[in-house]
Amino acid sequence: MNNIDVLINWQEGSGEFVEIGYLNPNGQQCCGHCGVPGTDNFQKAYKTECTICGYVYGTNGSGMFERKCPECQGGAPGIKFWRTI
Ligand SMILES: [Zn+2]
Repeated sequence: MNNIDVLINWQEGSGEFVEIGYLNPNGQQCCGHCGVPGTDNFQKAYKTECTICGYVYGTNGSGMFERKCPECQGGAPGIKFWRTI
């Protein structure tokens, strides 16, 4: 476990696709957001973990349901999801 995860209070979004623990059909799991805006209008950047290879990256809430892993599934590069302390 790293220190950043201990300090951040991860929050769920509203909607079933952005609940903490939501697993999409590609095996990508939503881990919540910490208030950082995404790159789409009115979206938050959600911490996302690939349950296949373990890669952790950021996803706009609007794309969570169809997200593919940037490392092992050829998905788009992850966006910044953490807050600089
Ligand atoms: Zn992966």
